[in-house]
Amino acid sequence: SENPLSQTSIGLTGGIGSGKTAAADHFASFGIAVVDADLASRAVVEPGQPALSDIATHFGADILQADGSLDRTKLRHLVFADQAQRKWLQSLLHPLINAYLRDNLQAATSPYALLVNPLLFETQQHRWCSRTLLIDAPEEAQLDRTMARDQNTREQVENIMQAQASRSQRQALADDIVLNDKDLSHLHAEVDALHQAYLELAAS
Ligand code: ATP
Repeated sequence: SENPLSQTSIGLTGGIGSGKTAAADHFASFGIAVVDADLASRAVVEPGQPALSDIATHFGADILQADGSLDRTKLRHLVFADQAQRKWLQSLLHPLINAYLRDNLQAATSPYALLVNPLLFETQQHRWCSRTLLIDAPEEAQLDRTMARDQNTREQVENIMQAQASRSQRQALADDIVLNDKDLSHLHAEVDALHQAYLELAAS
């Protein structure tokens, strides 16, 4: 279905280290509900969730750690080189992740809700959104910020950037774009203005 939500939702995206979390935190400081696709992808495989049993049945109990939680590193390695297994896993998880996200967006009590996903366009989740906002950063800034934050090597960050949509692809798809190439107070000022516009959109 195209847009199953009656709640006004704004899709927030951007490459690794672009400043999505920094921007989302500022929206959240105004009381805006933030729904995070990375959190959703972990929530649906928590112990007790049916998908975790399905994964353990399919791949064997070795895919679980001693405490019963999913060994995400092992799973990532298993599906990395095997397209059929990757497809199996995606067809299990994507409907669950989408349901989790839609439920949480719909349950939001703020005037509008924010859906944060680095793969917003790739997953087609932008179709649920009234508008999309790109946090856009020069590749050098993405690299510097991510390396500083996570102690990743330059090569690791470049590999992740290769696997994501390109900066120009996202720029072509987004309704709103914040260029996050200055300090955090500049980012916050841009978010302040967008928040006012989104409040008006939600009220109209
Ligand atoms: P990921 O996709 O990896 O989760 P992200 O898009 O959520 O990344 P953030 O975590 O918000 O990116 O930003 C990456 C790092 O850069 C963080 O440590 C953040 O505080 C810092 N940062 C973001 N924007 C700025 C800025 N304008 N000036 C200085 N530091 C910034």
